[in-house]
Amino acid sequence: EAKSQGRGRYVVYAPDMDQRGAEQARIAADLRVGLDTGQLHLLYQPIVAIADGSVYGVEALVRWTHPQRGPVGPVDFIPAAERTGLIVPLGAWILGEACRQAVRWQQELGDRAPRTVSVNVSARQLREAGFAADVAAVLLQTGLAPDRLTVEVTETAVFDDGTAMAELHAIKALGVTIALDDFGTGHSSLGLLRTCPVDTLKVDKSFVDNVTQGGQHAVVAEALIHISNGLQLRAVAEGVETAEQADALYRLGYRYAQGYHYARPLPAAEVGQRLSQPASRLSHSG
Ligand code: C2E
Ligand code: MG
Ligand code: MG
Ligand code: MG
Repeated sequence: EAKSQGRGRYVVYAPDMDQRGAEQARIAADLRVGLDTGQLHLLYQPIVAIADGSVYGVEALVRWTHPQRGPVGPVDFIPAAERTGLIVPLGAWILGEACRQAVRWQQELGDRAPRTVSVNVSARQLREAGFAADVAAVLLQTGLAPDRLTVEVTETAVFDDGTAMAELHAIKALGVTIALDDFGTGHSSLGLLRTCPVDTLKVDKSFVDNVTQGGQHAVVAEALIHISNGLQLRAVAEGVETAEQADALYRLGYRYAQGYHYARPLPAAEVGQRLSQPASRLSHSG
């Protein structure tokens, strides 16, 4: 039977797959109710230019407040949503909500609105034929310009999957930006950078963590910025927590970063407040 421990966590004790499956089915059942009754919301984490801390874009990150368990993080419910297929309606809601918010910022902030809003799309969504058509419909309904939307996918989601790759090409053809998330941790095949219509590499936090110490992680971080620049991709360093990391990344050639050093994921209204300030005041305020 499903067990929980501590506030807001589903702890999965999985002696066998049946039990794990049952727990995930239970999470998904709760999540279905949560989706229908407004228990979910999005936070937005700024993606900044390292040089001056100005906000280039924001990444939408889903949050769930369970009525009994309290806050439950996406790592504790996205896998269950993927396994049960609930990710399809959940993902559609997330996409619509993020696009509506992007339009709201443009109305409220004009030129200061985030240049792009990123939405995470999971393998299951992408492997559903018709996903690109859903994206096109949302853009039409919300009035968001396609180049203001970034779709974040992992290497693993597109690796070796014909449907996912076709959907990605169709999304790209709409004018939407494509980012490879957690780059360097998945089925890393550099060949993917040629076959996949990618615009942005999000270099995984694991390469950022030890970048100030030199060594292997710094070597990989440096190789990845060379590849990005050579292929004319935008590189974003993920999970930047300190000024030292930001400085080291900048010296390696990185120009964009995301992480607690700049800002945590924020409610939409707080993003708006930050964007209303002059850019110079944004740097080192995270
Ligand atoms: P991700 O897409 O790689 O998102 C970045 C994660 O790193 C977020 O965790 C963010 O809060 C966290 N993070 C950002 N800066 C820092 C930092 O400086 N230090 C540390 N330690 N963490 C940092 P979060 O929100 O818990 O999301 C985890 C993962 O869940 C995401 O990884 C993504 O794979 C998935 N996810 C989140 N929201 C969605 C969504 O709306 N749809 C889908 N399909 N997946 C989502
Ligand atoms: Mg992401
Ligand atoms: Mg990531
Ligand atoms: Mg990550």
